[in-house]
Amino acid sequence: MTDITSPTNPRVKSLAKLAEKKHRAESGLFLLEGEEYVRTALQTGWQVEEVWHTGEEPPSNIRTSTIRTSTSVLSKITGKPNPQAVLGVLKQRWNPLPTTPQGLWLALDRPRDPGNLGTIIRTADAVGAAGVILIGEATDPYAPECVRATVGSLLHVPLAACSEADFIGWAKGKRVIGTHLNATKDFRTFRAEDATILLMGNESEGLTDALTNICTCLAKIPMRGHTESLNLATATALMLYQLQADNLTSA
Ligand code: SAM
Repeated sequence: MTDITSPTNPRVKSLAKLAEKKHRAESGLFLLEGEEYVRTALQTGWQVEEVWHTGEEPPSNIRTSTIRTSTSVLSKITGKPNPQAVLGVLKQRWNPLPTTPQGLWLALDRPRDPGNLGTIIRTADAVGAAGVILIGEATDPYAPECVRATVGSLLHVPLAACSEADFIGWAKGKRVIGTHLNATKDFRTFRAEDATILLMGNESEGLTDALTNICTCLAKIPMRGHTESLNLATATALMLYQLQADNLTSA
């Protein structure tokens, strides 16, 4: 076990930089706050490079490189005034697009908001979706705000990322249910079949024309008030629950 208690330590400074996308991309690392989640990460085969903790002893049964530190150091690394007592430094995981997808895959066209993306990953986990695909210039699922919003689900939902062109090539011949404000088919008539891809649009622009054109069908969630559209995370939750309705039981 090592001790690092100075907020000016170079290792502390370099971990604090993981708040920036550029540094996460260069290092391939991200931060996971909270003992429970760090434990789950270790149990589920994530590569945990280091565990920082404020207690005298490292959390029990954590067999990886541990660093004893202070609350002010964890505060500096996470940018939070009241950080959790345990912080993991993990390797990011990215999956290739599946050759023969099974189950329900969720694809998101350029999602922008990390809070939305985290909420969506959490819902994808709740309904047992097979994975989430990020298309084009998407917000980073390993950004701290997104990781927090997933409330641990990030550890259980396979993630893939690709360009729009690669997605279109991959999706060819597959069942793609798009969502569009101009669609006429009510979303309550849809169910997931093995394999289905649910495609959701960008927060401000919706789906691009190119993506809309590859959909095998387009669904609309009816609205009767004054709003032009639903929030992306809300619309995604409604679609995921509708599509998985036959695969979910309350018992
Ligand atoms: N101004 C954008 C547009 O014209 O599409 C609004 C985008 S909306 C905030 C983000 C995404 O949520 C949409 O692209 C679509 O995937 C989904 N969405 C939101 N409301 C919807 C609805 N009523 N029916 C179907 N999809 C909806």
